[in-house]
Parts: sequence; C-alpha cells; structure tokens
Amino acid sequence: MDIFEKLETLANSAKYDASCASSGSERKSPFGSAHISGICHSWSGDGRCVSLLKILLTNHCEYDCAYCINRKSNDIKRAIFTDDEIARLTVEFYKRNYIEGLFLSSAVIKNPDFTMELMIKAVRKLRLEYHFGGYVHFKIIPGSDSRLVNEAMRLADRISVNIELPDHKSLEKLCPEKDKYSILKPMKYASDKILENKKNRREKFAPAGQSTQLIVGADDNTDSKILNLADHLYRNMFLKRVYYSGFVRVNEDSRLPMVKEPPLLREHRLYQADWLLRFYQFKVDEIIGADSNLDLRFDPKTAWALKNLDRFPVELNKADYETLLRVPGIGLVSAKKIIKARRFSNLRFEDLKTLGISAKKAVYFLTLNGKYYGLKTENKDKIENLLLEYKQDGLFDDKTAEKTYLSANTGNL
Ligand code: SF4
Repeated sequence: MDIFEKLETLANSAKYDASCASSGSERKSPFGSAHISGICHSWSGDGRCVSLLKILLTNHCEYDCAYCINRKSNDIKRAIFTDDEIARLTVEFYKRNYIEGLFLSSAVIKNPDFTMELMIKAVRKLRLEYHFGGYVHFKIIPGSDSRLVNEAMRLADRISVNIELPDHKSLEKLCPEKDKYSILKPMKYASDKILENKKNRREKFAPAGQSTQLIVGADDNTDSKILNLADHLYRNMFLKRVYYSGFVRVNEDSRLPMVKEPPLLREHRLYQADWLLRFYQFKVDEIIGADSNLDLRFDPKTAWALKNLDRFPVELNKADYETLLRVPGIGLVSAKKIIKARRFSNLRFEDLKTLGISAKKAVYFLTLNGKYYGLKTENKDKIENLLLEYKQDGLFDDKTAEKTYLSANTGNL
C-alpha cells in the first residue's frame, strides 16, 4: 500500500475523534511554530476541526469497542504508517501550508505500550530529525505506562486521553477491554506532571495541557452525569477542554442504541453548559432539569433564568458583574462593557445594541432606570413562548451566537 492510500485510510479512521482543537501552546522554532497566533482552524462539512493533519498511526486494533469503526471485528481496510512516513507527511503538508500541525492517535496494535512506543518514535523523528516545531496533539493510549506518557508529554504540545463513556458500567458493556483505571491513571499522571512543571518552571511538558472526549448518546447516561464528570475534570485534573461528541452509529450492534441522526442539539447544549461551568460560575445542579438532563428547547442559561424568574428583573444600571452574567442575552464581553459604560452615564434601552446585548432575549430579565420593557414575570408561559420563537442558538449575545453555534459543534468555543 503506498503512502497516499495509507493516508486516505488512516485519516478516514481518525475522523470520529472530535478533540483536535489547537491552542494554548507557545512552542517556537525556526521551522514551525505552535504559538496561538500561528495556529489556524478550519472545519469540515460535518463541523469537525481539520486544521491539523489528523491521522491514526494504525487502525489495526486488538480491542472491540462496540461503537468504533476500527474495532477488531469489523472487516475494513487496515493500514499502518512507519515513523518516517508520519514525519514526512507532516513536514510536506506543513511546507505546502495545508496544515499547522499534527494530531496523532492510534488504534491499539499488540498492546497499549507497544502502540505508544511506535507513536513516540514517529513524533521524536518529526521533532529531532525533521526539526518540526509546529503543534502536535498526541493521543495517549489508555493503559499505557507512565514512562511513555512522560515521553509523549515531552514531545507534544497537547495530550489527551479519551474517556469516551462516563461510567464503569457503560465501559464494561461497550468497551470490555478498557476500564476506568486504565483511562484515569495516565490522565492523573499528566495532570500531576503539568502542575509540577508549572510550579518548578523547568521542562515544558505538554504546554497546551490535556483534554478528553466524551461520547454523547451511545449509552443511557444523563447530562447530569456527563457534566458532573466534566466539572470534576476541570477542577481536579485541570483539563483544558472536555469535548462532547454526538454518537454516530457506524456499526450494527445490539448493544448500541438505534439512532438515525447524531444528537447534535444535545451536544450543542452540553457545550453551552460547559461554558457556564467554566466561565459563568454556574454549578451543574443549577442548570440540570428535573429529569437530570438539559432542557433542549432553551440554552441552559435561559432555561435557568426561566426557572428562577423570582430573581428577575435586575436593574442594568446597578446589578453587579456576577448578576449581569446570569441574565440571558448578556455575555462575558457585554457584562464588562456594561460595567465600564455605566461609570459615565445611566444606560438606556437604546444602548443595549451598542453594548452587544440581545435585547429580544434580555428584555424579560432587565429593568433600565427602573423601567421594565418586557412582559410581567408572572406570564411565564408567554415569556417561554416568545423566547422559543426567538432563535435559541445563542448562549450569549447576538453577535457571538452564530460563532458560538459553529464552535460548539467543533469543540472550539
Ligand atoms: S481501542 Fe476501541 S475505540 Fe480505540 S480504535 Fe480500538 S476499537 Fe476503536
């Protein structure tokens, strides 16, 4: 099989991994740069990031995960790259301006350690022989030895270990060869190493941190379970990002749910909720509905506000920053602008647009100089209906709504 046929096969096998956003690294060299401004992103037709050369080392797999196209029991075309092929492809694509870096993952050939050795060999060659200083995202294989995780972290800008399924029960059912321990051990090792490195300011280990991916809809786990896990990973393992990937049924398997379409709206709401946890000081319990899932009709902040109408309206000219952030239609940027602008004069209804506030959404939750422009809050059903009529894509303000929707689908909020 020639290198281009391998490329077609192994890029195709890698396309279901959503966690390939590149950012946060400052690695620089005369040949290639991983600095944030040196990395650009683009998105494929299905909304996934394609700015990196995203490939598997191999799609030969010893494991048989129910949802995976590369599983052992599937009769598909198999291939494996040599270390030199990976290094050459990356460098040639980089020189032609096709890509800004490499996203290297792999199926499990022989065992996790053997696979990691081959991946490390390829990236080491890329770095040391081809002197490539661009961005490298290295996917750690669950169950691999800490020594190999350490070596991968020396070479890569970002590492990730895919959790895929949020609990032991689902792993046992859908990925019998993996377990919670084999996934969390390398994650914990990486988070300790990143923390230690930050404190000592010595060697750079995965300067862009670590991320993970969770599949949404392959099992019956609720949004509450998924978001609580993400929250734990942000707080205790300092993950940079958790990616949510709507389940795509690529295999006939009685263990899998019958779904015609991937649950993209649920995936989108999870990304929005993830933002609320990381940047808006929301707690998981506040945004989860009675059935332990997010309300798909509204973005999670609007859903929370509708459940808490007794806390509204708030006066735009007096509310503190944290309170403003809880108003639907007011985002991080708008809230800062409000605080700054009202130092000079009282804000009026006409100012909302200039401040980037979605008036159609915010109007039910605000007063301006004591005047309320929406419906009386006792008309909850009417407010809900009016908000449902209003495009529900944006979590924040009108300007960023479109961008948010696109990025939410790609994992690059
Ligand atoms: S380990 Fe599981 S998810 Fe990974 S490639 Fe093999 S079958 Fe697919």
